Amino acid sequence: MSGTRKIIPIKKITQPRPQYDCTKCPGYCCSYALIEITKRDIARLAKHFGLTERQARQRFTKYDRGTKVWVLRHQKDEHFVTICRFFDTKKRCCTIYDVRPGVCRDYPDVPRCGYYEFLKFERAQQGDEEFVATTS
Ligand code: SF4
Ligand code: SF4
Repeated sequence: MSGTRKIIPIKKITQPRPQYDCTKCPGYCCSYALIEITKRDIARLAKHFGLTERQARQRFTKYDRGTKVWVLRHQKDEHFVTICRFFDTKKRCCTIYDVRPGVCRDYPDVPRCGYYEFLKFERAQQGDEEFVATTS
């Protein structure tokens, strides 16, 4: 072996570009009935709103007996019946984007979002870029 050591170039790790645009979506994922919250999420929300963790838990979450997890509370919504309490139902976006729970950050965890594909298809069918297709 020669004295020259080969340097293996570090591969540029690139994430595939997302094939969806949340700014054009009415927020299907935010209408999930059970959006699970962790202790870490509660701590982040409490800090953001200047509350104790107990206050944040009481104000923003509820316990789901069926699944035995703490989930985000909902509010009424014209398109999906109910939607996350932190969703701006007029602007159709998250009001706590920078401090949103981990589960919201991770979703959809793949480059494509099934809901967005569905939305694009339905809008093309209707010839209306503002059309809000519902899943029920
Ligand atoms: S359903 Fe998909 S496109 Fe719509 S807000 Fe959620 S992640 Fe974004
Ligand atoms: S916290 Fe924000 S991103 Fe998460 S479900 Fe609620 S509105 Fe959607």
